[in-house]
Amino acid sequence: PSPRERSGPAGKPGAYPAATTSAVHPPGTPPYHRADPDAPLVPADDLGLTRGDGVFDTAAFVNGRPLALDEHLQRFAHSAALLGLPRPRLDVWRAAVLAAVAAHVPAPVLSAKLVLTRGREGMRRPIGWVRVAAARDHADEHRDGITVVTLDRGYRHDVATTSPWLLQGAKTLSYAINLAMLREARHRGADDAIMVSADGWVLEGPTASVVLREGDAIVTPSTDEGILAGTTQRRVFDIAAELGLAAHYRRVRPDELLAADGVWLVSSSRGAAPVRAVDGRAVAVDRPLTDALNARLLPGV
Ligand code: PLP
Repeated sequence: PSPRERSGPAGKPGAYPAATTSAVHPPGTPPYHRADPDAPLVPADDLGLTRGDGVFDTAAFVNGRPLALDEHLQRFAHSAALLGLPRPRLDVWRAAVLAAVAAHVPAPVLSAKLVLTRGREGMRRPIGWVRVAAARDHADEHRDGITVVTLDRGYRHDVATTSPWLLQGAKTLSYAINLAMLREARHRGADDAIMVSADGWVLEGPTASVVLREGDAIVTPSTDEGILAGTTQRRVFDIAAELGLAAHYRRVRPDELLAADGVWLVSSSRGAAPVRAVDGRAVAVDRPLTDALNARLLPGV
């Protein structure tokens, strides 16, 4: 989809040329087109490819039903704003996502990935697409739990405020660091990682939010610590309310992971993966709450 109106990064009106979808998509046809997933789609000089300059979001569909699609769309727009990209037309993106899901072979969990790049070098015209794929089955993780290592992210917890140009909290296409963290975790014999700020606060996983249970309360690191606002973590808070548990955001120390009554990595298509060890030390696995969370996060899976 293309932006309908002339718009641009904050403070730089008109930095992007006017782009209408009507030239490409005549009236009466949807303002997007179906692309061949096996054919080249992105030019070799696309800034998303060559510089990781763009944003994405991934929404899950469980048995054909969207999970928190509005929240994913809003976060996508928020990430775009942080990068000074034109505001995506969320009605168009929503229609494209639904069409792509409807066209896909059904699967228990589908993940719809929305990508918006800054476009070709010098063209000042973003390029966006949606791709739907079957999500991996996480039943083994839900059953057996996962092991994690803590890894220093190298930034203080307040970096989003002191250095907003580091784009912490935006879901940018520059995920090479997150993937390197996963490789490092596996190199150390663990399944996944939990990032810790340079000043010693628990942040998030490379592709998931961190949630703890402490007695009757569900706790998660504050989203002002340069971490992604997780849609699944929000849903866990709603489920906590249903289950009569309190829920709050606060700063969390790594040693609190070891003392917690349960620790999970949560994300849209993964649900809640219980953590059974942190840095080689066993942590409590709350089996009943894991099952209760996944029954609600991924109903019927
Ligand atoms: N944090 C990071 C860095 C992520 O990449 C993700 C998801 O991919 C999440 C948290 C969890 O977000 P959500 O629950 O909206 O899927």
